[in-house]
Amino acid sequence: MARKTPTFKPYYQDQLMAIPPSLDELVRKGHPARVVNDVINRINIQPLLDAYHIKGSSSYHPQMLLKVLVYGYVSNVYSSRKLEVACRENVNFMWLSGMSFPDHNTINRFRGARLKNALRSVFEEVVNLLSDEGLLSIEEVYTDGTKIEANANKYTFVWKKAIQTNKEKMKKGLQDIWEYAQSIAKSEDELPEPPDLTDIDTEKVQATVDKLNAVLADKPSVDKKVKAKLRYVTKEYPEKIAEYERKERVLGDRNSFSKTDPDATFMRMKEDHMKNGQLKPGYNVQISTSNQFIVNYTIHPNPTDTRTLSAHLAQHRDSYGKAPASLTADAGYGSEENFQLLENLEVEAFVKYGLFDKQQKSSFRNKHGFAADQLFYNAEQDCYICPMGQQMDFIGTFKQKTSPGFVQHIKKYRARNCAGCPLNGACHKAKGNRVIQINENLERYKARAYLLLNSERSVEKRKRRCHDVEPVFANIKQNHGFRRFMLRGKEKVAIEWGLLAIAQNIRKKAA
Ligand code: SF4
Repeated sequence: MARKTPTFKPYYQDQLMAIPPSLDELVRKGHPARVVNDVINRINIQPLLDAYHIKGSSSYHPQMLLKVLVYGYVSNVYSSRKLEVACRENVNFMWLSGMSFPDHNTINRFRGARLKNALRSVFEEVVNLLSDEGLLSIEEVYTDGTKIEANANKYTFVWKKAIQTNKEKMKKGLQDIWEYAQSIAKSEDELPEPPDLTDIDTEKVQATVDKLNAVLADKPSVDKKVKAKLRYVTKEYPEKIAEYERKERVLGDRNSFSKTDPDATFMRMKEDHMKNGQLKPGYNVQISTSNQFIVNYTIHPNPTDTRTLSAHLAQHRDSYGKAPASLTADAGYGSEENFQLLENLEVEAFVKYGLFDKQQKSSFRNKHGFAADQLFYNAEQDCYICPMGQQMDFIGTFKQKTSPGFVQHIKKYRARNCAGCPLNGACHKAKGNRVIQINENLERYKARAYLLLNSERSVEKRKRRCHDVEPVFANIKQNHGFRRFMLRGKEKVAIEWGLLAIAQNIRKKAA
């Protein structure tokens, strides 16, 4: 029986083509590279052109480099070296670059320096274009944040607490030698005024060290150990305190920073693969979205979302000339300061406050039936009525500052006589008559939010928040594998996130 042979399609690798295909023919219709090309062609990139000097040798066209970079972020190619390779090997990149072959240094310089002042305007142009096409709204936004790891070593850190502890040790060291000097001075001569070491700085430490040397250095009667300590203090303390001051300036109001990226703060990440709760250097990225398009983004060093809203809304106003008409966010943003900010900006706030979800459950309300916010308030007489029907009189106000420095005004009310009350113990555990503290302003915002959040429109918005803003982070992190910034420093991180935001918007438009 004759042996059958398989049939293959013709394969002539060296065959010449009468009309070779153009790159344009090789990029299919509707391909994301075409969407990148179309969007970048249609926006005004004048601020980017302004980043170039008239003098000097010719440069690669910024429009081409922008297309290459944005398409890189669209297709998960983030590294400049991989982009350089892609421009030589990948048809889509070759089509976008018009067969230019920028090297990785050119791509890096363009991303880090040329885009520094221009990327925000490119992003806004893209958002405005998509808004004109009716794909998104800059008026009704959904806001949320996520933490993304910085490109920094997680084992080289500076902690505010460690600096404070070391400064305390330094104070004690100086104090001890000063006390020794005083004990000697009693028997020999007078000492200069004792230094005030409550708050030490470079000048104070240097002055104290100088004084101690003037008093003790040449005295033969001084204990050997004290002399050795004074030598150490003279050599080390002025340098150390200057170093602590420099680190405190870098820290600002943060608790930590990474030595390899001083703008990055140590924070707890959602992705904790080792399951050990290890803090990692990172940035808190805030975005506002509409139909899963990113409308606004800001980068923050502080890990809590509550403190980011003011700067985030300021950026929205900078970008689009006004605040959004409505904003939906989770309970992480529901602070008094934020409610006040949203009210002042006339933004309709679909924002939960801390206990909103729990308050919906009758079991929680029953368990906390004695809570201050459950008591009846008599506005006419400015008093509360306690669970036994007794009047709680206003006894004064006090101010307190939140950690970001927001001043809260708290009113205090006291029950007239709790002695012998059968509810005593369940109602409150303190000795004497029960005293409650009420933040009227916050209670007003919470009452308003409670009504708004239970409206039909709000229920719809809160449901939508879960499939508007949250999937954007999931898409960038899980589907596109972006879990760590490539660049260092807040400015460059903002450029990187801006490129990711443009890429997200273009992917969404192409979908
Ligand atoms: S313990 Fe005092 S405040 Fe509480 S119910 Fe009794 S009287 Fe009222």
